[in-house]
Amino acid sequence: MSVRFMSHPIEYVKGVGPARADILNKELNITAVGDMLYYFPYRYIDRSQFHKISEIHEEGVYVQLTGRILGMQTHGDKRKTRLTVLLGDQTGSIELVWFQGVRWITEKLATGQEYVVFGRTGSFGNRFTLPHPEMELLSEYKASPRDKFQPLYNTTEKMKTKGLDSRGMAKVMKNIMQHPQYRLTDAMPSDIRNKLKLVKLNDAIRWIHFPSSAEQMNQARLRLKYEELLLIQLHLLSLKHNRYKKIQGFRFSKVGEYFNRFYKEELHFELTGAQKRVVKELRADMKSGRQMNRLLQGDVGSGKTLVALLAALIALDNGYQTALMAPTEILANQHFRTIQRFTGKIGVNVALLTGSTKAKERKPMLADLANGTIHLLIGTHALIEESVVFQNLGLAVIDEQHRFGVEQRARLWRKNTQPPHMLVMTATPIPRTLAMTLYGDLDISIIDEMPPGRKPIKTVHAYDSKRNSVFDFVKEQIGLGRQAYFVYPLIEESEKMDLKDLMDGYESISRAFPLPRYAVSMVHGKMAPDVKDYEMGRFVKGETHIMVSTTVIEVGVDVPNASVMVVENAERFGLSQLHQLRGRVGRGADQSWCILMTDLKLTSEAKKRITTLVQSHDGFVIADADLALRGPGDLQGTRQSGLPDLKIADLVKDDKLLKHARKTAIEILDQDPQLTRGENTLLRMALRDRFGDEAVYAVVG
Ligand code: ADP
Ligand code: MG
Repeated sequence: MSVRFMSHPIEYVKGVGPARADILNKELNITAVGDMLYYFPYRYIDRSQFHKISEIHEEGVYVQLTGRILGMQTHGDKRKTRLTVLLGDQTGSIELVWFQGVRWITEKLATGQEYVVFGRTGSFGNRFTLPHPEMELLSEYKASPRDKFQPLYNTTEKMKTKGLDSRGMAKVMKNIMQHPQYRLTDAMPSDIRNKLKLVKLNDAIRWIHFPSSAEQMNQARLRLKYEELLLIQLHLLSLKHNRYKKIQGFRFSKVGEYFNRFYKEELHFELTGAQKRVVKELRADMKSGRQMNRLLQGDVGSGKTLVALLAALIALDNGYQTALMAPTEILANQHFRTIQRFTGKIGVNVALLTGSTKAKERKPMLADLANGTIHLLIGTHALIEESVVFQNLGLAVIDEQHRFGVEQRARLWRKNTQPPHMLVMTATPIPRTLAMTLYGDLDISIIDEMPPGRKPIKTVHAYDSKRNSVFDFVKEQIGLGRQAYFVYPLIEESEKMDLKDLMDGYESISRAFPLPRYAVSMVHGKMAPDVKDYEMGRFVKGETHIMVSTTVIEVGVDVPNASVMVVENAERFGLSQLHQLRGRVGRGADQSWCILMTDLKLTSEAKKRITTLVQSHDGFVIADADLALRGPGDLQGTRQSGLPDLKIADLVKDDKLLKHARKTAIEILDQDPQLTRGENTLLRMALRDRFGDEAVYAVVG
């Protein structure tokens, strides 16, 4: 019965009706009582507090006053009227203003009467004002005492025109709670609730909207956050269980000749401890009989590509092909070159397929792929086209996975009758708490150790006014035989401007570093691929000293001889992006530098980003700072991946709670994977309610 009440159309709640229901639906996607109750206030105002007029010293804050109307005045013409009301108390006076509903307000108010006035301060000239405050006769206020805390709800302009401002929303909430059928069923198993001392759902919902103390507010928030995080984790983990059950994985039972020869004859350095650990994790997945779905995180240069190659050799030893997909042609090229260099002698057949592969090369290549002659295919998006058919694809690796969408991943899945093992790699570390939610259905491996002998990159912040010293420094480095990058921002909205900035930059750098002594390359996204590759190639071979570019070189490009990364307009880049760019240098054993050039004027957030980068080298520390500064919605890669829309929990602040909820979810599913037992059936219903029918708990039962 109460479940039915939760799905009761909002339209039929007292005070709503069809027009408001329509607005609620369009603006907030609220259609049922349950949606409404889960639309939480973003904050509260303590209405037990009264202020004196003389205490007002800030704009944009809520104040509650009592005072007498000293005078009223209407200004302007019919088209544009304004009402000002002078309100006075013992300490002074303030002007209340209305720009709308002037006639109606004028009739309602009376000079000489005492009112309770509540609103948000504004200013006009050098005086404070109160635009559009709520007004109530003091006598009426005294006759009907208010709730201590007034909830504030986010509402839109359209909602406000239909009376659904913050106060209107509160009224609807009240009406729901007074409905005779109002009673909610608590899906949270009582043993979990008791163990954590969480309050019951009915209390939590009442208190989140109308708390009578800070304690109630906190109790309600805790309970609802935990519920939210638990449901999300149950959902993600169920998806994973379901996949395990439904999808078979190719069994790579042996490590054979290719792997062993490579290890003995071609690998001239020791794997780091972290690399060894990850290789073991991949091995275990690939021989388990379950399909591997693993995210490999590791800082730029930590040796992920090498690990992927080792996995590909295992696939080959078991008679399977591997696909390695990279987001850009430059990167695919580079992977191809390094992997070929590594494996040329042991007879691994590697091919490169990109958008610029010529038709006459492409045809025989596709034939060799279909008959199994090609063991490892490296490429860009070109890899997932329909015409690309493998004989027996067993492993698919995606580099810089945040550059790809879900659909592209899915297309790799379909390249064999049974999905290949999947390894997705990223050098944009995602904070663990976020990864748990974002990739909760993947297993995660982390390389948190750099190959030995790397010197930490020295990072400095330089204002544009110091440009000449920066140039001198770069000349010094070039004199020592090194190379340098100058990177310019290129952001879509202002693409033309940015391109001009880049060209201007190129010109001034070419002037400062003149031929024949210096040679400067340039690449950007608008160039034809062959021109781009040619320019890049010159820099890679050391024929040019300086590479001027946009962020196209951000991912993966490997020129160990480059020792300086100059980032122009560094204030316009995100933290993770700056960290990626910095990773382009410091690839050899010598000292490298990253110089962040900025304007003299910086926002405080930009300053924080620059300072974080100057102080830290740890990608995970930087990712955490990025998350704290920008919020999860803005992080690279979170947009396509579909971060769940959280109503109350906060992935940054509630990370302890999140870890706990994940642990609880694992315990619940271990005992009852289908959620069919006793108390868990309500959880299953709640999950289906929130996430639809795709998951296992919906399939069963
Ligand atoms: P990533 O893909 O994580 O950015 P790469 O696999 O491209 O890193 O490795 C960066 C460089 O370090 C490559 O030149 C690679 O050959 C080298 N490298 C990888 N692992 C090691 C190691 N254990 N010891 C020394 N050098 C390594
Ligand atoms: Mg890489």
